[in-house]
Amino acid sequence: MDHFQYRDGVLFAEDVNIPALAEQVGTPFYVYSTATLRRHFEVFAAPFKHMPHKVCFAVKSNSNLGVLKTLAEAGAGADVVSEGEIRRALAAGIAPSNIVFSGVGKTKDEMRFALKQKIFQFNVESEPELLALSEVAVEMGAEAAIAIRVNPDVDAKTNAKISTGKKENKFGIDINRAGELYAQAAILPGIRVQGVSMHIGSQLTSIEPFQQAFAKLRGLVEALRASGIAITTVDVGGGLGVPYEPDAQQPPSPEAYAKAVLDAVGDLGCTLLFEPGRLLVGNAGILVTKVIYVKPTETRTFVIADVAMNDLLRPSLYGAYHDIIPVVETSAPLQPIDVVGPVCETGDTFAEQRPLPLPKPDDLLAFRTAGAYGAVMSSTYNSRHLTPEVMVNGNAFSVIRARRTYDDLLALDSIPEWF
Ligand SMILES: *Cc1c(COP(=O)(O)O)cnc(C)c1O
Repeated sequence: MDHFQYRDGVLFAEDVNIPALAEQVGTPFYVYSTATLRRHFEVFAAPFKHMPHKVCFAVKSNSNLGVLKTLAEAGAGADVVSEGEIRRALAAGIAPSNIVFSGVGKTKDEMRFALKQKIFQFNVESEPELLALSEVAVEMGAEAAIAIRVNPDVDAKTNAKISTGKKENKFGIDINRAGELYAQAAILPGIRVQGVSMHIGSQLTSIEPFQQAFAKLRGLVEALRASGIAITTVDVGGGLGVPYEPDAQQPPSPEAYAKAVLDAVGDLGCTLLFEPGRLLVGNAGILVTKVIYVKPTETRTFVIADVAMNDLLRPSLYGAYHDIIPVVETSAPLQPIDVVGPVCETGDTFAEQRPLPLPKPDDLLAFRTAGAYGAVMSSTYNSRHLTPEVMVNGNAFSVIRARRTYDDLLALDSIPEWF
């Protein structure tokens, strides 16, 4: 359920009229719905209300401060992968005690910053990282609370580029070798072992890989406890998918996911940590674009929109599907259409031979399910602007990332002083 609905044939974001918004903000732009974000957070967190838990939003999926603030107010913590993301989380009012630091390549500078802020947990992904963290913590007279991110070697059955829990992926420590690293961590100065963690991939559409991985995680907690290592947190990562495509396999419901978690690790007496990203923000955002040209060729009809791969990379990066809908409903018959952007790459294609009503120049289109891994991956490729972002709340809207000027864009560079 989201709050992007037609009223009398015109698309609204909550109570905000999209064509009117487009008039004010200019296209393209992202729109996020406060009510949808809040609802997603509540539905996700509700099954764990009776036990200690932290829902740490994966900031990399949408790091806009307006989005982070909305989720923080709803009760979210943050799962971060860089110092920049820690700074964003703090700026949005997320307490350090609700921040978990993930990622395979944390630098010592980033560790220092995180330790200074007293974040809740580092999810350590390798022995060299563990040693570096110990060194930094000792040097600061601090103590780093850690979990080791284990790789449970399950097939998440998702896109290879976003699958992370197989042995051959760069992430985590082989679960069968984790015991050795835990034993080492337990005696390292500056390190306090507190938990276990995993994250097996993104956009999972079946429950079985989660169940397999959670069962292995439980086994690990029991083995560690048997060897005398106290474990008080279990971080099950993120990865629950969202429906992008009407006819594709639908992801498990948050309720089914919660049941799998609780069945496997609910009775360990641990604080449960979650790192959902896409699930919270994916369907809470759309991307609005205007048609520039309609270009019929001998074999195809191209709709050239003012949105491009620099605004929304997922289709060219992963071959990802986004539903595309007219902002003003039309009775035009469906016909196979290619929706493309102006960027000079064939990969700048959003839909091929998709049955859509043929739009006219200046018509508005909306890409659904664009709230996750959309704006965060945007760039200025082809010297296009970073895509503006707008938050709606009832009948109010706020531009939470404004479109910059071309002077701003050019000011990022400088010409060498020898000219
Ligand atoms: C990307 C990522 C997440 C979030 O994944 P979603 O599929 O967006 O839920 C959570 N944890 C880690 C460690 C990640 O890298």
